Amino acid sequence: MPELPEVETIARALRPQLIGKRIVEADVRWARTVAAPSARKFKEQIQGQKIVEVSRRAKFLNIQLTPIRDPQGKAYNLLIHLRMSGDLLIKRGKIKPEKHDRLILTLAPLRLPQNSKNLGGEKKEYLIFNDTRKFGRVWLTDDLEKVLGRLGPEPLSGDFTSGWLYNSLRSRHRQLKPLLLDQTFLAGLGNIYTDEALHTAKLHPRALSDSVTTGQAERLHHAIQTILQEGIRRNGASIDWVYRGGDFQNHFRVYGRDGEPCPVCGTTIQKIIVGQRGTHICPNCQKG
Ligand SMILES: [Zn+2]
Repeated sequence: MPELPEVETIARALRPQLIGKRIVEADVRWARTVAAPSARKFKEQIQGQKIVEVSRRAKFLNIQLTPIRDPQGKAYNLLIHLRMSGDLLIKRGKIKPEKHDRLILTLAPLRLPQNSKNLGGEKKEYLIFNDTRKFGRVWLTDDLEKVLGRLGPEPLSGDFTSGWLYNSLRSRHRQLKPLLLDQTFLAGLGNIYTDEALHTAKLHPRALSDSVTTGQAERLHHAIQTILQEGIRRNGASIDWVYRGGDFQNHFRVYGRDGEPCPVCGTTIQKIIVGQRGTHICPNCQKG
């Protein structure tokens, strides 16, 4: 499942291809892909909007829109959560929908060439949301808070400081790994980057959050930011999902490396279960 670095990579790749494009129409091919509003309203409201920005909040892609014809009209955000198997593709020319295409947005340049009466097939572009397992969702909303309001801070933003992390860990009584995976606590981390950050910080995933010292919180804060930045620098990890571009999977410290030596001390990496999630640790480095 894509985590913060993978979604950030996708946003960066889509941005130059989507900004300035007009949404001609939406083909909702599986209604439940649209979490809100109804598929019918979704099609009505998204038509004729222009894409002005592509960004990310937590594991959500945020495609910001603005109405073209009616300056007083509502500006919407198209939020996309890829979940387990969601994939976004841009195709050009004539297309034939694939079996697992759940949503197809027809795009066009904002200004048509002067001599074109209508939009010829070769001018069309499509943003396609393909999702084999159907867990992915999209929202069209003019109120971001409704969808994103409960999320914790962005780990690469100024809101995420080691002081904030220390106080927030101390005010809860939970095991570190499930707490870090909780998107209302901190946004964007999933199984891979949590295991990597805890190993980097030399903290055990089952350690209780209210037992963490200031020094350990500082280490964890630094580890989370370092690991996420490295993930983004390597275009994310391409593992057990459709995203293909990344290289971070070749640089994992512990994730998926059970039975192999710890890169720090050589002890054999173990796979354990913490909060129902497969978790990779070095039993020697992560005693705290
Ligand atoms: Zn070790």
